[in-house]
Amino acid sequence: MPPWVLIGSAAVLLPIFTFMTMENVHREKEFTTRLLLEKGAALIRAFEAGTRTGMMGMQRGGFQLQRLLTETAQQPDIAHLIVADADGTVVAASDLDQVGAAYGKELDLASVARSKALQWRLVSTSSGVRVFEVFRKFEPTGPQGGMMRRHPGGAESPPDAPRVIFVGLYMAALEEARQSDVGHAIVMGGVLLLIGFAGITLLLLAQSHRATRATLSRIKAFSDHVVENMPIGLVATDGRGRIAVFNQVAESVLRLSASDALGREASRVLPPELWQQVRSDAAPEIVTGTEIDCVLADLQRVPLEVGAGALRDESGRFEGSILLFKDLTEVRALRREVARHQRLATVGRLAAGVAHEIRNPLSSIKGFATYFRERYHDNPQDAQTAAIMIQEVDRLNRVVSQLLEFARPVNIIPRPTAIAALIADSLKLIETQAREKSIAVAVEDRSTAAEARLDADRLNQVLLNLYLNAVEAMAPGGTLTVRVADLKGAPGIEISVSDTGDGIRPEDLSHVFDPYFTTKPAGTGLGLAIAHNIMETMGGGITVASRPGAETTFTLRVPLVKAD
Ligand code: ADP
Ligand code: MG
Repeated sequence: MPPWVLIGSAAVLLPIFTFMTMENVHREKEFTTRLLLEKGAALIRAFEAGTRTGMMGMQRGGFQLQRLLTETAQQPDIAHLIVADADGTVVAASDLDQVGAAYGKELDLASVARSKALQWRLVSTSSGVRVFEVFRKFEPTGPQGGMMRRHPGGAESPPDAPRVIFVGLYMAALEEARQSDVGHAIVMGGVLLLIGFAGITLLLLAQSHRATRATLSRIKAFSDHVVENMPIGLVATDGRGRIAVFNQVAESVLRLSASDALGREASRVLPPELWQQVRSDAAPEIVTGTEIDCVLADLQRVPLEVGAGALRDESGRFEGSILLFKDLTEVRALRREVARHQRLATVGRLAAGVAHEIRNPLSSIKGFATYFRERYHDNPQDAQTAAIMIQEVDRLNRVVSQLLEFARPVNIIPRPTAIAALIADSLKLIETQAREKSIAVAVEDRSTAAEARLDADRLNQVLLNLYLNAVEAMAPGGTLTVRVADLKGAPGIEISVSDTGDGIRPEDLSHVFDPYFTTKPAGTGLGLAIAHNIMETMGGGITVASRPGAETTFTLRVPLVKAD
């Protein structure tokens, strides 16, 4: 609890309780005074009455009064009783020695003797005891005062002369009681103060408890959200090995629903390979990056990267385990892909080297074959053999060139290019072949971009491969159609090359881009592989659709390079 709260509540409570206590004490005091006053008044009235009675008994007032005083003063709490006249001369007193002496000179006795009002003061006796003194006009005559005047008596002064009576009362007992009352009031005040403090403290504690609970529930909501939505699988068990947390990724990786897993024993729910990681409370504090192959309930094998750790409280007591895991299926596939690429690259470089070495002897062989064909042109069989040699050498050359082409890294250099001109130029390259096979060529340009930045040479190479395949696939009389359109959803163009050839068998469709896949006796199977490579490097792509026996369409996605 902050100290300012204590200080603040003390500042509020202390004055309140001090004031209350002082008020109590004051009331006590007033009450004591009133009590003493009343006692004094009662005594005085008793004297007056007694004196009257005495007088009716025809005794001398003075003597009678003196006796009454002496007797009454025997009572333990009466200090003294004095009757004095207006001059301050004692007429009668409980202490006989005082009679005739002066008393109360310091008071205005004349005025006291005139009014009937009761007054009081505090005096000290010669022995230093504090005495509460009540005094007022002494009026024994009362309503029957007339009698007094008819029977004047008393040696000292006429009985109807104005007199004052003093009644001294000891305060000790009352004072004591009052003191204990005051003590009581102070103790009460203290107790109330403490109760007030306790109340405020409790109130603040309750308040802070509420605030803490609210904060806790906020933190819990936040962490639940994080756990639920984190991109890795999380499973936590409690101290007894039951599953306490099972997030969404865990659900999808382990193919288990959280509602089935929660609250059940982890050893029964989790695949054994995964459970192995956390089995006991002796499990290591934290393990990360272990790769395991998990066999799921449906016997499917899932590669996982697992991190496991034990949860302990402050005193080191085992509170459960936590398991974090990631599905490595995709990562493994990527790794395999990378390895394959590396192998291919090595093989490609090797092949390119070999191809280069083959090319030189090939040109010599072709030269000799040509020579022999000329030389034996009168012997048709030999000339035929030489012609076949030339043809085969040409084929070999083509294979080697394409292999070199395939192995060479693709380098894209985009330049501003007019699209319509690009298409027209590329079609010129197959004009002759098309004409020879009576194949019609159609162009449909629906693109809005007249000019684009792209690598025209590479695109030409791709298009040429597609045209040649199309022409080879068609019987005479077919149609080759080139369509150009804007790319949907991104800046770029789409070029499709369709033919009315014999199509691609569905089972071959996924292999046409593989290197060395060919269905032609003299094919290399590298044309589409090269095209695929180039399109990928451009950041675009190539797709194929075909109806066997009817048509085939290859579609190029050509993204436009930003003019930078
Ligand atoms: P090649 O032409 O040397 O066989 P490609 O990579 O160019 O190698 O083509 C691979 C294979 O794809 C071809 O052998 C053929 O079976 C098929 N193919 C390609 N284009 C077409 C097409 N337009 N119509 C039918 N089949 C085609
Ligand atoms: Mg080809």
